[in-house]
Amino acid sequence: MDFIKIEELEIYAKHGVLSAENQLGQKFLVTALMYMDTTKAGLNDSLDYSIDYASVCNFITEYMQAHTFKLIEAAAENLANDLLLSYPIIQKVDLEIKKPWAPIGLPLKTVSVNISRGWHTTYIALGSNLGDKEEFLNNAITEINSDTMCQVAKVSDFIITKPYGFKEQDDFINAVIKVETLYSPMMLLDFLQKIELDANRVRTIHWGPRTLDLDIILYDDLVIDEENLTIPHSDMANRSFVLIPLNQIAPNTIHPVLGKSIRELLLSLPPEN
Ligand code: ATP
Ligand code: MG
Ligand code: MG
Repeated sequence: MDFIKIEELEIYAKHGVLSAENQLGQKFLVTALMYMDTTKAGLNDSLDYSIDYASVCNFITEYMQAHTFKLIEAAAENLANDLLLSYPIIQKVDLEIKKPWAPIGLPLKTVSVNISRGWHTTYIALGSNLGDKEEFLNNAITEINSDTMCQVAKVSDFIITKPYGFKEQDDFINAVIKVETLYSPMMLLDFLQKIELDANRVRTIHWGPRTLDLDIILYDDLVIDEENLTIPHSDMANRSFVLIPLNQIAPNTIHPVLGKSIRELLLSLPPEN
């Protein structure tokens, strides 16, 4: 992808673990690679379709001077986040913060932190079969969208489905949403679990009644198999209540393990699912 690069912007700021660093300050060098599509700006020769790098340089300088972090890791993390939120045209940023005067009493050229942060596309399945089901889904969508780290980009229809697994319970309402997020997969899971808790979800029977279930179905084309997080969702390809709404908003998206589009997965689903 195209990028605009700011190299070694020199900033005098006060980050550091030592109190002397916080009081006296020192020099930091910031390099930022900002990924975006520059085609439109190039073809139109217009800043309207790009970023003003002078403005970004001022932004970075002001940010680095307005805050005092102990670690350059924290300075980088927070600065990357704020850059991505303040300049929506930037899809991803590679950030390097160098500390050439690091006070360690040894002759080193520089020490630096390098991070890469950006927007990710994720699909989240929502389900409810207790209480005001539609309201639980609508509230969850509003809550996700009101978090600065998330933007709800698409919402499928709400569909009524028969219970899966444990059958002796009320019908479900299900939906799938597309969300652009700055959260890592783990942070997203934590965030969604908090929303589930707020909805008073009580889990008694596995696959049993619940006010709100929020499952991460896809996250970019990432494959994760951790103890508490599996992406793509391990059972998505067997579930019509996931594939039908997902097919409405992402029919051509490819399942990164099965190598098939959502439309193909839906078509190959046995009718009883
Ligand atoms: P299922 O995941 O089969 O739909 P469920 O949604 O009823 O079942 P929960 O009780 O909501 O299951 O979650 C059980 C655990 O599943 C969670 O604590 C979470 O750590 C884990 N989990 C693993 N992968 C995912 C994922 N992709 N999205 C959400 N939770 C996940
Ligand atoms: Mg579930
Ligand atoms: Mg769940």
